[in-house]
Amino acid sequence: MRMRKCLCKEGILRKLGSLPKTNSGADENDIRAGIPLSKLPHHRCVFERVFLQAFPDDLALVTAGSVRKELEINTNEALELIHLTLVELKLELSVGKCQGLSFRSLVGHQKRKRQNIFKRKPIFKINGQSIRIGESLKYLGLLLDSRLTWSSHILSLHAKVYNLTNNFSRILKTDWNLDKELVKIWYLTVIEKALLYGAGVWGGALTCDQIKRLHTSGESRIRVYIDGSKVDGGVGFSVCILHGEIQHKIICKKLEPQNTVFQAELGVLGEAVDWAIENKKKINIYTDSRSSIKALKSCGSRSKFVISIKNKFFLAEGLVGLVWVKAHVGIPGNELANHFAKLASVEGEGMDIPFPYSFVKSTLKKKLLEDWQIYYGACETASGNRIRSFVPRVDTKTLIKSKYLIYFLTGHGPFPCYLSRFKILSSPLCECGSLGDPDHYLFDCLMTRDHQLKKPSCEAKSLWLKT
Ligand SMILES: [Zn+2]
Repeated sequence: MRMRKCLCKEGILRKLGSLPKTNSGADENDIRAGIPLSKLPHHRCVFERVFLQAFPDDLALVTAGSVRKELEINTNEALELIHLTLVELKLELSVGKCQGLSFRSLVGHQKRKRQNIFKRKPIFKINGQSIRIGESLKYLGLLLDSRLTWSSHILSLHAKVYNLTNNFSRILKTDWNLDKELVKIWYLTVIEKALLYGAGVWGGALTCDQIKRLHTSGESRIRVYIDGSKVDGGVGFSVCILHGEIQHKIICKKLEPQNTVFQAELGVLGEAVDWAIENKKKINIYTDSRSSIKALKSCGSRSKFVISIKNKFFLAEGLVGLVWVKAHVGIPGNELANHFAKLASVEGEGMDIPFPYSFVKSTLKKKLLEDWQIYYGACETASGNRIRSFVPRVDTKTLIKSKYLIYFLTGHGPFPCYLSRFKILSSPLCECGSLGDPDHYLFDCLMTRDHQLKKPSCEAKSLWLKT
C-alpha cells in the first residue's frame, strides 16, 4: 500500500498491533533515511493471522484465512483499522496505487489439482474503495505472481539482462581489444548482479525451461563460427551457423590455390555477414583470425577487398557482432569450423576472389628472373663467361645489391686493365708490372697483400660466393 504524504508514525503500528511503545531507538531519522522498520522489533505487528510491515512511505500487509470469506474479513478488518489510524494521524492513502495479490494454499486442495487460484478473487476494501487485486505484484524488486511460479519475474529478468548484454556487446564491438579484465569486472558487477538479485528467494523454484531461458539471455544472437584454411595448396573457408548446439547450416567455399589464407579469413567474414543480412538474423561471428579483425579496424587499408568487407559490415548495421576466439584450444565451434574449412579447401563450392597483390608481385618477379636468366646465359663475352664462372644463375643478391662485387665480377671498375680500354690510362698494367685486372688485385698483387683472399680453384668458383 502506498501512503500519500506519509510520515509513517509508530502510532499506526502500535495501534494495529496493540504493542506497547518501546524505546528501541527508532526515531524519525531512521524512517526518513529509508531503513525498513522490520529491523525494529516493535514495528512488526501481528494479530493472530495478520502481519504488517512498514517502510518510510509504504505498508506491506499480509493476512491469511482458512477460507476466502475469512480472508476477506481478516483483511478488511485490518484495512479498516489502518484507515482509522491514518485518519487520526491526518494522513491520506492513495487507494488507486494500492495493489493486492492473493495466494491459495495447496495444502487443503491437493486432491483438486490446478485449484491453486480462487474462482473469484477476494474483495478488499479500505474506506469503501476496492483495492486492485492483480496477477502479479512487485515487492522489493521481485515480481511475485499468484501461483508463485516466478514466470513473470523470470520474463522481466530475461528482458533486463538482455538489454544489459546488448549494451555490453555494443561496446565490445566498437573496441575488440578491450582489456579482458575490464570486461570481466563489468560482467561480474553489472550483469551477474542483476541476474542473481534475490536469487535466494526464487532460485530454488525454477523449472528447466526457466533455467534455459536465463542461460540464453546473454546469448540472444545466433553463434556463427568461421575459419579459413590452406592445406597442400588448396584454400577454403567454412561458416558454421549454430542454433544452440545444433548445426543449423554449414557453408563451405573453395578459393583458387593462388589466394591466401588471409583472403580466405576475410572472405569468410563477408560470407557470414551476407548470410545475416539475407536472413535478417542477429549473429555473433567468432573468428580466430586476429589479422582480419586488425585489417577491418585499420582505417588506412587501401585494399579493395578489405574495403568491400568493411562495407558489408556497415550495411549489416547492428545485425553482426564480431568476437575473437583462441584457436586450437578445444572450443567446439572453432574446431568445427576448422574441420570444415579443411574439407572446403578440397571439395568446397568454387568462389572467385581476385588474386592478392603479393601473388602478382611474386609472379612478375619470377617472370623477370626467367627472362634475365635467358639473356644472362646467352652473353658470350669474356666478362660474361667470367661472371658466370662465379655466379652460374642470376641472383638478385650478388648481381644487384653490392657495387664492389659487381666491379670484381665484371671487371668493369677502377682497374688499369679496364680504364686503359677507354684511354683513361695509358697502360693496362699494375705498378708491379702484372696485368691490372680484378683477380690480380684480389689474389696476387704485392701491394694489396694485407687485404688479399685465397684464389679459389676453377671448380670451387661457383660455390665461392655462396660461402
Ligand atoms: Zn700488382
